Amino acid sequence: MKLYNTLTHSKDEFVSNEPGKVKMYTCGPTVYHFAHIGNLRTYIMEDILEKSLEYVGYDVKRVMNITDVGHLSSDADTGEDKMLKGAKREHKTVMEIAKYYTDAFFEDCRALNIRVPATTIPATSCIPEFITLVQALLDKGYAYEAGGNIYFDTSKLDEYYVFNKHDAEDLETGVREGVEEDSNKRNKIDFVLWFTKSKFEDQELKWESPWGLGYPGWHIECSAISMKYLGEYLDIHCGGIDNAFPHHTNEIAQSESYLGHKWCNNWFHVLHLNTSDGKMSKSKGEFLTLSLLKEKGYDPMVYRLFCLQSHYRKALVFSYEGLDNTAAAYNKLLARVAALKKDDGEFDEAGAAPLRASFREALENDVNSSLAITALYDVFKAEVNDATKLALIAEFDKVLSLSLIENAAKVKDEPEAIDDDAILALVAERAEARKAKNFKRADEIRDMLKNMNITVEDTPNGPKIIRK
Ligand code: AMP
Ligand code: ZN
Repeated sequence: MKLYNTLTHSKDEFVSNEPGKVKMYTCGPTVYHFAHIGNLRTYIMEDILEKSLEYVGYDVKRVMNITDVGHLSSDADTGEDKMLKGAKREHKTVMEIAKYYTDAFFEDCRALNIRVPATTIPATSCIPEFITLVQALLDKGYAYEAGGNIYFDTSKLDEYYVFNKHDAEDLETGVREGVEEDSNKRNKIDFVLWFTKSKFEDQELKWESPWGLGYPGWHIECSAISMKYLGEYLDIHCGGIDNAFPHHTNEIAQSESYLGHKWCNNWFHVLHLNTSDGKMSKSKGEFLTLSLLKEKGYDPMVYRLFCLQSHYRKALVFSYEGLDNTAAAYNKLLARVAALKKDDGEFDEAGAAPLRASFREALENDVNSSLAITALYDVFKAEVNDATKLALIAEFDKVLSLSLIENAAKVKDEPEAIDDDAILALVAERAEARKAKNFKRADEIRDMLKNMNITVEDTPNGPKIIRK
């Protein structure tokens, strides 16, 4: 399997530390608000990565954190605490906010068929591990105390910028939102491991530590949680591209300084979902959540398909027009699945082999989900019986997770579940097929519609759809 690795800037042959096994860590959500659909794009693509690894034969052990403490408004450890901001906004305690939005995140994952890792760990449950790690970094001389806080000393590293060489301009992004510099830092790019003093309003949650009552920085939680549950060697670390710097850069700095060896070989970053006028935001413009899309009548599977149609390493622009096109494509896909006959013979191994091969090849090619969707479409066109088609669709859908079989069954039971546009698209395809003298395809489509108890009558006002 080939995977693009942000560390090497190239598509490399993936090799895990232990043959056949993958240890994978995912940065989880900061639970101060609902996830926006950009965040969810990242989780969908990480889900596809995990399921692709399984499809090609790996046993994957995956861990995710839930950030319920320590993430400040700027990723570079300055600004107001995000959780506190959420609590104030809703007149609740930080833990109430954390519980509410963690549950909301799990509900989004359920609706989008994103598998939540069995080991999903709230940061607040691992405070002793963070303290141990910070103490070890102090003991080894990689950290210092200043103004009541503990900082990581980036000048102790031979190489800090492991992903990209940043210049002062890039740093400005790290310290965005007009927040002042922290004068305690020895170097501009040092970062906080443990806070006991913040010049911003204090955290609600604090814990005893050797340095006084305080709370952890954001970056330390991912290093400590990953090492606690996955050990000293990690195969793949994932996140959205904005996490590469400073968050993942800092994770690498502290983890490798602590361990004394390389920590993670492969870094998988998902590019952003943007709106046509720029970055997706939780505070400006329309706050695009999955609930909002559901309210507007979109099935969450349509959003999942919208994401799968693009490669994870390309920025994706969200538009309702794009989503409408995907909704039509999804309905058409369901109609095609619904039209397949269940009891049509034995599974055709030989016929299935090239279809399986092209699906697998797509996944092995840096998780090319759009090519995997093309391989799925190829199943409908293949010269194999319906039983084979249905079995392959079910198999591919273990990775794609578009609920194709399940939702197609609903289409069969309630023909009105399939929208007119999808039916008209099939009718148009049949007309094209007849014109091209492809009578086999034309008959197939006629049978599909018949199986769905749908007939189409030509009237002077255009085709009329009749549902029995
Ligand atoms: P957060 O809850 O802010 O910690 O972010 C959760 C995940 O979403 C992280 O992996 C981020 O890198 C990722 N993310 C943030 N914004 C976007 C976006 N517009 N598109 C895709 N992923 C994003
Ligand atoms: Zn993280």
